[in-house]
Amino acid sequence: MVQKMKLATAWLGGCSGCHMSFLDLDERLLELHERADLVYSPLMDIKIFPENVDATLVEGAVANEDNRELLVNIRRNSKLVLAFGDCAVTGNVTAMRNTLDRDEILSDVYGKDGPGMNSALSSPLPVLEPLVTPIHHVVHIDAFLPGCPPDADLIWHVLTELLAGRVPILPEAMLRYG
Ligand code: SF4
Repeated sequence: MVQKMKLATAWLGGCSGCHMSFLDLDERLLELHERADLVYSPLMDIKIFPENVDATLVEGAVANEDNRELLVNIRRNSKLVLAFGDCAVTGNVTAMRNTLDRDEILSDVYGKDGPGMNSALSSPLPVLEPLVTPIHHVVHIDAFLPGCPPDADLIWHVLTELLAGRVPILPEAMLRYG
């Protein structure tokens, strides 16, 4: 029996639009299911990132300490890590807060509970990074899938390259913006 690829996707500081584009693979998801096991993803209820993952697509930028911790864990346990969408690649929309004063805004929002805390929740919110950064500022990234979000055809091209055992190289003709 052919060994299935162990595939993961992760959601850091992003809007989840990249994962919506992943779902736009539509019937190609059935073919993917035949050839790969999705072992971790916001599309499923698994809390712990597994070991020995073949490839992980990471949506979103590093915006807080939970994002950073998960990304480092992903890198440690994945043969290939791919920046999935413009927020992961450049910071994009998530990094727009870099022009604002983080501590001033947190004080305005959370008041006397202090920055990063919310008394309505049982646990503190994750501490925000001073600046939002693209994921290659934190760990080594093997390939980049630009787009906001990346087109489903581009995602499929990348997945088929991965399934063929290759690090994806993106054809310029498939890179579309706007
Ligand atoms: Fe959302 Fe675009 Fe960022 Fe993807 S790249 S998480 S679609 S804002």
